[in-house]
Amino acid sequence: MVSSINDRRRAVLQTPISEHMISAEKVAHVQAGNYAGHALLVLTKSGYSAIPVLDSSFRLKGLISIGMITDAILGLERIEYERLDSIEVDSIMDGNLPEVYVHDPFEKGLDLLVNHTFLCVTEEDGTFAGILTRRVMLKEFKKYIYTTP
Ligand code: AMP
Repeated sequence: MVSSINDRRRAVLQTPISEHMISAEKVAHVQAGNYAGHALLVLTKSGYSAIPVLDSSFRLKGLISIGMITDAILGLERIEYERLDSIEVDSIMDGNLPEVYVHDPFEKGLDLLVNHTFLCVTEEDGTFAGILTRRVMLKEFKKYIYTTP
């Protein structure tokens, strides 16, 4: 019994990330050339703290968060809201993301999600495919911990 549960756990760790991700069409995003004001609007309306930044060919460029936007408009004495519509997202985003591909094993996602709230997943050519979130990862684990084969 124990070994067959372990076999199932091992098997799920080897499944491709594409089987577990939230697909691109359901993911809120902004374009690299959008202004910070637009990104702030999307972030606030969607309720997410960070969202992917894509180029016009749907390729992943980075991540933008509310914190990055406020940091960019922080003046010496006040927050300079008027700058929201002159700063482009790609000049303030985090473009240093771990490379995660649709065919990578779920196990790679598990390792990376220790330090990231969510991961952006791409096709081999960099086209954005979706995200893998901690929530999905935890739900998956709950399923395999509590269900018997
Ligand atoms: P969760 O694990 O569901 O709390 O999601 C973690 C983070 O992933 C959120 O704070 C967002 O930054 C991002 N995220 C989750 N779902 C979406 C989505 N549909 N669109 C954009 N970002 C998302």
